[in-house]
Amino acid sequence: MKLYNEYSNYLKEKYGGKVYKLPVNIPCTCPNRDGSIGYGGCTFCAEEGAGFETLDSCMSVREQIKTNMDYISKKYKAEKFIAYFQNYTNTYVKLEKFKQYILDAITENIVEISISTRPDCIGDEYLEFLNEIRNDYGVNISIELGLQTVNYHTLISINRGHTLAEFIDAVLRIKRYGFDICTHVILNLPGDNIQDTMETAKILSILKVDQVKLHSLYIMENTKMGIMYKNNEISMIAEEEYVERAVTFLEYLDSNIVVQRLVGRAPKEGSLFVNWGMSWWKIKDDILEKMESEGRVQGSKSIEKRTLS
Ligand code: SF4
Repeated sequence: MKLYNEYSNYLKEKYGGKVYKLPVNIPCTCPNRDGSIGYGGCTFCAEEGAGFETLDSCMSVREQIKTNMDYISKKYKAEKFIAYFQNYTNTYVKLEKFKQYILDAITENIVEISISTRPDCIGDEYLEFLNEIRNDYGVNISIELGLQTVNYHTLISINRGHTLAEFIDAVLRIKRYGFDICTHVILNLPGDNIQDTMETAKILSILKVDQVKLHSLYIMENTKMGIMYKNNEISMIAEEEYVERAVTFLEYLDSNIVVQRLVGRAPKEGSLFVNWGMSWWKIKDDILEKMESEGRVQGSKSIEKRTLS
């Protein structure tokens, strides 16, 4: 029985073999940090953004790709790669710079370019350029959008700087170009409950996003959430509840949507709370075990299955 639509299988089918992501770190920031949209960033975001495993942004894009590609090719005998612009808001740079970075990433064996950004920060000129790149070089394009939850009250409380509306707008505009859309979701944000989990899965299914990445919230020192955590102003749900939310999310998620990740990973250094002190793969195992033992699979409660005819 197929429990969920796994990313590694999807990549094998699409590209005919194993494909590895090469993280690329460009010098950029986030409009939710520099005052264009807000100051201080999302309350959980540490200064280094999301890319704690990336190389230094002082290195050129080409150099970073070469270094990572050499290492991974030797270690895993890999032949195909995705250039993954991971950290901060990668479309929050001048268009000319953005073009240069993307062109620099197109080298032999790069089959896809994946760009992580905020839903309120992806202009039509950037999408037009990516469309040209795809047509000229035959490289696939995917856009990763941070949403975290559809509960806009929670989005306001974590100082996200956008609500659900900007996300819907971004998805509709990206869909015009047919690029794959991956959405980041955090299943245990303070303020959210299991109803938000279900609603998030339902809305992503209706919008027909292509992929999702589930994260468990981790709390870093020197973040607003870190201070709240130390002051007991927020509490974390138990691991069993996270597992239940992940399983429920998958049940409500359209079975065609590819799942890149079921639980997040985080740097140990400087963290106050990460995955209940457990390894991410143990939590993943708990999710899969629960699905298997309770006969619950991705899409079994998805919205089209519940529509009366
Ligand atoms: S949008 Fe991303 S990079 Fe910007 S503050 Fe929030 S989590 Fe950090």
